[in-house]
Amino acid sequence: MIPIKRLPPPDVLVRNEERWRAAFLEQRAKDPQKQRPSSRRYAHPDIVSALEAMSHHKCFYCEQSTKQARPEVDHYIDVAEDPARAFTWTNLYLSCWECNHHKHRTIPATDCLDPCAPDAQPSAHLMFDDELIRAREGSAQGLATIKKYRLDRRDLDHKRLKQLQLFNKVLGRIKDDMIAEGRRHMNENEKDLLWSFRSPDFPFSLMFGVVLEQLQL
Ligand SMILES: [Zn+2]
Repeated sequence: MIPIKRLPPPDVLVRNEERWRAAFLEQRAKDPQKQRPSSRRYAHPDIVSALEAMSHHKCFYCEQSTKQARPEVDHYIDVAEDPARAFTWTNLYLSCWECNHHKHRTIPATDCLDPCAPDAQPSAHLMFDDELIRAREGSAQGLATIKKYRLDRRDLDHKRLKQLQLFNKVLGRIKDDMIAEGRRHMNENEKDLLWSFRSPDFPFSLMFGVVLEQLQL
């Protein structure tokens, strides 16, 4: 998870939000079985594209790329908790299938880190031991976030490990060049290459913030 700056709502939502909300709430009042709004509306392709633009095609929660798998639109505050926010732009988040479907619904989102909060600082709450995510000491929000979205699940550990291996390969190559050229320090290009792993458009960039900090780069 990294901080995400929310962009303006897409036109399709500006035009239809009120109507979609009213229709959903009316339907829900008539038929209590109608618990869910239509994903054809809240996950309209223009809404997905606007969310993808905000997160560089990454899941807002786990930071895995959503380019290969079709991303889903998640209600940050569950529809069951607040049906009136089913089409509210600030309540729509981009999620990978796994974070959305494995999410622990009994843990309130308000106990967790919100990547879109103006003062969001996930790095103050989350850290990593290699590919394994941990809450920073004393961070209840960090712990709740890992638990709610199951950020410590095995498929993510595996994907983070793969990305770490790629980083270590690049680092190994740089060290080989330094030895071959008798250099004690990395040049700026080499540092930039390593720093690119923590740029927001790279998967798991929060983890690489920790890695680079440990390498004191
Ligand atoms: Zn995810």
